[in-house]
Amino acid sequence: MYCQVCKSFFRVTSKFNELFKNKKLFLCPNCISRYKLKINHLVFPLDKYNVNVIILYERIPLKFTEVFINEYSTIIKQLVKNKHHIILLDIFDEAKLKDYEKVVKILDRSVTFVAFLLKTF
Ligand SMILES: [Zn+2]
Repeated sequence: MYCQVCKSFFRVTSKFNELFKNKKLFLCPNCISRYKLKINHLVFPLDKYNVNVIILYERIPLKFTEVFINEYSTIIKQLVKNKHHIILLDIFDEAKLKDYEKVVKILDRSVTFVAFLLKTF
């Protein structure tokens, strides 16, 4: 199987009882260890509401975000179940915090921004 990110070939081993299960692997063992899920939750309090931010990774190649969509969608499902108001982003840019605050004020409620990566100043 070829890794979707680095394009290197890697072998997939299956146990006998898993032979007929459709195993979908997109990342080689090197990329799995390089791009580990590391959830970071930030809260920027405003007067009335909060800007909540959930960052999923410290680094991933943004060209291949679809490879990491399973983790992304799992987090989103959980937030939707808990009735969060969410906005999805590729990158949460701290330099644009004022813009995100405007969104929260316009919506008149706390909003959770979910992003793959955080861009700091
Ligand atoms: Zn790889």
